[in-house]
Amino acid sequence: MSEDCIFCKIINGEIPSTVVYEDDQVLAFNDIDPQAPVHVVIIPKEHYESILSVPAGDDIISHIHTVANRLVLKLGIADSGFRLVNNCGADGGQTVPHLHYHLLGGRSMQWPPG
Ligand code: AMP
Repeated sequence: MSEDCIFCKIINGEIPSTVVYEDDQVLAFNDIDPQAPVHVVIIPKEHYESILSVPAGDDIISHIHTVANRLVLKLGIADSGFRLVNNCGADGGQTVPHLHYHLLGGRSMQWPPG
């Protein structure tokens, strides 16, 4: 846990969220500012600032992808397609320094992203 981290506060219930999936390692909740009809944020319960902070051999990234696979089935976006995004660092567009993936779906996506 990191004291000033908004995602850690969501994990411990200090900040409310709409949870769509939870297990002992991961929490997934609806983004407060959705950029698509489906926009879920998937985070590890352990505080890592970004993917760069994850130690070698830690399986959290693999587990997040497994959770994303389950969620696309549960949320009905597997057939039409979806986007799983990790923004890393300032130029990558990361605004919350707690590792997270965005799961976006329910509309057609553009490439390249802005
Ligand atoms: P990023 O810009 O990649 O760091 O993504 C951070 C995401 O967290 C943004 O899409 C925000 O809308 C989302 N966010 C920030 N605060 C909250 C919150 N309290 N509940 C849900 N989503 C949030």
